[in-house]
Amino acid sequence: MMAVSHVVVGGALWSLAATAAQQPIAPAGLGLAALGALLPDIDHPQSWVGKRLAVISVPLAGVIGHRGVTHSLIAVLALLAFLAPAGLDHAVAPLAVGYLSHLLADALTLSGVPLLWPSRRIYGLPLIRTGSLAEIGLVGALTALVGWAFGDVATLKQAARELNRLLR
Ligand SMILES: [Zn+2]
Repeated sequence: MMAVSHVVVGGALWSLAATAAQQPIAPAGLGLAALGALLPDIDHPQSWVGKRLAVISVPLAGVIGHRGVTHSLIAVLALLAFLAPAGLDHAVAPLAVGYLSHLLADALTLSGVPLLWPSRRIYGLPLIRTGSLAEIGLVGALTALVGWAFGDVATLKQAARELNRLLR
């Protein structure tokens, strides 16, 4: 999936999760969820995040390849294990939900994801080809749904700014 799709799906899932937990949808949380949704593709040097962190993405792609360990539940556990002791409690939930949303979204593409890596078994429901009209349609529908259900443009704009700040 394209980076923008992951950002949208991550933001949508976080909005749902925050609402279910009866928490306000804050720009910082949306920004963190979007960041979490971009992280798994750090195993691809040409991805949005891989280009920015080539020191990590190039060796990772060389040793393990794309859609390996970073697209598995081990990576989610590693993220939690890293964040919890770092005192980043406020960041844990949105980052984890964003990260999981990426695995979910990739699971809908033809390649699927190796959820139980190092097992090579691929999990998913092959519905979407990356960059296809189906992907654009799904993302457009999700954006409209989230905008309608939770939307206020000011929060979304602030979230975009927050994401920019996090990525600088
Ligand atoms: Zn991916």
